[in-house]
Amino acid sequence: MAFISVTPIQLGDVVRLRKPHPCGGHEWTVVRIGADIGLKCHTCGRRVLLSRREFERRLERVISTAQSAG
Ligand SMILES: [Zn+2]
Repeated sequence: MAFISVTPIQLGDVVRLRKPHPCGGHEWTVVRIGADIGLKCHTCGRRVLLSRREFERRLERVISTAQSAG
């Protein structure tokens, strides 16, 4: 049974992952979207690349989206 979930994320979104970064941070900003998802830690500023599948697995929830202008 193939269950494919596509999380609608975009650049600038702030997300929370299930497992905290070693620095203690839970919140990340999406800085790159492609075959891999680039995330920047809010707490220490480090950047990581996760595969889309890995990202989906680690994602807890989307905190805010980049669409705040208006
Ligand atoms: Zn960090």
